[in-house]
Amino acid sequence: MINTHSPVIEVKNLCKTYFMSGGMSQSVLKDISFSIEAGEFVAIMGHSGSGKSTLMNILGCLDKPTSGLYLLNGDLVSDKSELELASVRGHEIGFVFQNFNLLMKRTIADNVSLPLIYQNIGEKERYERALRMLEKVGLTGYENRFPSQISGGMQQRVAIARSLINNPSIIFADEPTGNLDTATSDEIMNLFTRLNKQGITIVLVTHEEDVADYAKRLIKISDGRKEYDGLRQSYQGGREAK
Ligand code: ADP
Ligand code: MG
Repeated sequence: MINTHSPVIEVKNLCKTYFMSGGMSQSVLKDISFSIEAGEFVAIMGHSGSGKSTLMNILGCLDKPTSGLYLLNGDLVSDKSELELASVRGHEIGFVFQNFNLLMKRTIADNVSLPLIYQNIGEKERYERALRMLEKVGLTGYENRFPSQISGGMQQRVAIARSLINNPSIIFADEPTGNLDTATSDEIMNLFTRLNKQGITIVLVTHEEDVADYAKRLIKISDGRKEYDGLRQSYQGGREAK
């Protein structure tokens, strides 16, 4: 029976250890547990090297935990095969990265519709859907240009349009404003806020307090452990406390 109240994300005692050659190992995530409900906007913060990207990659089904459970929409994903994970990624998850990850030799419309290529969707429909996504991010009219012809902020909006093309329930963004100036960062964060208000769950990694301020909830990671989980406003180690 489907539990309609299950959270979008539930992790229990999640651990990740990297094993290196020569018998060395590094424990990067240590006993992390939390859940995220549909429609939340969560910021994950922590120092460089604290394990944020490792956690995001597991949540985004790009990597698997060493131990612990991960349920996405009530479905146990920590045991799935690579092929099954690829299918979950394709249908439920959108990704946005710091460096945009666009194909520079493809048009903006092609970049946005790229995830549809793996689903046997014809060229005309791919193009039409790309146009609809570009409209959502305020880039109507740019479909036939190339990434090198637009600004960094616009390139990130193209990446966000691409992340939306499969109508995901959740977007993971790893330092999405890390390469952008303050004004452009605000634009991108306003766009995420708008998408969140339309019902998409957003989980965002950042080390910038200004960017985290857009989220209601903060999860703070320190040396691979969950150090804080609660309202952003009541976080005493943040800017408010100074
Ligand atoms: P953050 O995103 O918070 O900066 P990361 O998750 O990228 O942190 O990295 C956490 C730690 O895990 C770092 O010490 C990093 O060197 C190590 N690490 C990350 N990826 C790998 C990997 N594929 N193999 C070995 N160690 C890794
Ligand atoms: Mg990182």
